[in-house]
This record gives sequence, structure tokens and C-alpha cells, in this order.
Amino acid sequence: MATLMRFVNHSFCSRMGHRSIALSCNSSVARAVSFGAAAGKPLPAKVKIVEVGPRDGLQNEQTIVPAEVKIRLIDMLSEAGLPVIEATSFVSPKWVPQMADQVEVMQGIHKKPGVNYPVLTPNLKGFQAAVKAGAQEVAIFGAASELFSKKNINCSVEESLQRFEEVTKAAKAQGVLVRGYVSCVLGCPYEGKVSPEKVAHVAKRLYAMGCYEISLGDTTGVGTPGGMSEMLEAVKQEVPVDALAVHCHDTYGQALANILVALQMGISVVDSSIAGLGGCPYAKGASGNVATEDVVYMLHGLGIQTGVDLHKLMDAGAFICQFLNRRTSSKVSQAACKL
Ligand SMILES: [Zn+2]
Repeated sequence: MATLMRFVNHSFCSRMGHRSIALSCNSSVARAVSFGAAAGKPLPAKVKIVEVGPRDGLQNEQTIVPAEVKIRLIDMLSEAGLPVIEATSFVSPKWVPQMADQVEVMQGIHKKPGVNYPVLTPNLKGFQAAVKAGAQEVAIFGAASELFSKKNINCSVEESLQRFEEVTKAAKAQGVLVRGYVSCVLGCPYEGKVSPEKVAHVAKRLYAMGCYEISLGDTTGVGTPGGMSEMLEAVKQEVPVDALAVHCHDTYGQALANILVALQMGISVVDSSIAGLGGCPYAKGASGNVATEDVVYMLHGLGIQTGVDLHKLMDAGAFICQFLNRRTSSKVSQAACKL
């Protein structure tokens, strides 16, 4: 579980670089319309970005980040206009030491009105602790691959779904929203190809038990636009497209292409991680989550609204990379850097 790309001397983006990006983004609204028409499918006018950096991203970083830095990062992300920020995880510190300060983080962040701060809860115990700490939304995670489920959460897919049912029942009783993740939707490090039908089955179950949104995760980043299209076709048969999100990793450099295909298929919720935080535990040296900066840049270039201020977002990316002494994985931020 390590991020291996570490660069000691790194200069961060200057305001000059930021300005040149703003110019290239502002002239793009007309382009969006023509792009959508050329593709034969309308693109969504607005996309909701779910920022997963403070949890999914930091969880895979080696350096333990103190609570006050996480709190500052989350507040910078909400100030940048992100509508959903996955804040932390209520798992045992024994398994994930990076998230041992979950209560402090939940209680320290400045909760901006209108912003959701979901937290990951693997079981009922985690759910209860999360609610006690003030969480109003939780996330549960299932896998579409049997072997991945066994290795990652130590139970079969079916067993994991039964365990989640306890969480969704308790959440319903307490008026807490639940988001569901399906991991390995386009491939598994142990099983290889994962069938779209299997993904559709798990997504359907999570939706039926009350998850308001299902995030389809290409956990290893092996997927290509063709696989994404095939998988979404199958899932859309079982779950309304409005309740679907995509969660793409950029390990093989396919994330933005995969996201674009998802947008063309009617998906309007995209997960991403500030500065591309989070390495890939299955491929040494490979990049992890797609960077939020790059997703926002592409969406704005397509004339799609996000409500996110790219300059502020890049400042948040520079802040956390400086702390981690790590080079940003965002191509947009790298391009804007004065090295
Ligand atoms: Zn991820």
C-alpha cells in the first residue's frame, strides 16, 4: 500500500501558470455543444465531482498525515467548490493507521453548508462510530470480483453484501444516506477480466438495499473505453443511470478517456482525487486515482459545469503535495508548473 513516486525537490505551481489555464478553459462552452453533437450523444450540462483524496487517496500514501493537515486540506477542497468530499474512514486503525484520527477529522472540519462529507464504513460498528462522530452520509464497498473480495475484506461477495445490509438498515432508520462502491468493475488483479453481468448484479443489490448512488470503480485502472462502455451498458439495465458514478484510476493512462465514455452514456457523477493522490497497491510505481484537477479541466473544456474553481483546487493540490513531499500526479498542475 505505498506510493512510490517521491520527488524531493519540487517547485509548485505559480499563479502565472494558473492564469494561462483559466484562459484556455473560458473559451470552451461553444465547443462542448459541438462535441456532444459530433459524438451523437448529449453530454450532461453539469457534473457532480466526488472528491475522494482525503480518504481513498491518503489511505494509500505512506506518510502519515496529521489531522490538522487533513482538516486544512478538506476545508480548502470545500472552498474550491467541491460538492462532495469523502472525509475519512471508520475502519480499525489496526488495518488502516492513516485513518486512526477519523473522529478528530470529522469534528475539526468546517462543514460548509450544501457540501456532503461521506465516510467509509465497512460494517455496523464503523457505521455507529461514524454517526456518533457526526457523519450524515456513509459509504460501503463491495467488489465485483470474488477473489478481490476475499483478499481485501476477507469474505465472499455474497457475505459482504449481507454485512452491508445491516449498515443500510441502520442508516435508513437514522436518516443517514448511503453510497455504495463496487470495486474491480473493469478487471481484477487476481481474477483478470470481470464480467459486466457480475458488476451489474452487485450494483443492483447495493441499489436495492438502499444505496442512493453506486460508484463503479476501476480499482486497478486497467479498463479501456471499450470495456467501460460494455460494463455500463450492462449496469444501466439494472440501476437507473442517474444513480451511477464512475471511479477511474489512471494506472494505464485511460482514466479521462473512460470518464468521457461514461459521460457520453449519461453518467453525471465522477469520483476523483486531488493531485491524483493514492498510489496503486497492485502495481508498483503506477499512478492511482485520476486527478481532480485533470477531470475539472476536461469538464470545463467540454463546457460542463462543475461549480469548482480550478485555481483554488490547484492550490489545495499544491498544499497536500508540499506536505507529502511528493510530486503531483495531476497533468494540469504539472503543465502549469514553472520548474
Ligand atoms: Zn480509488
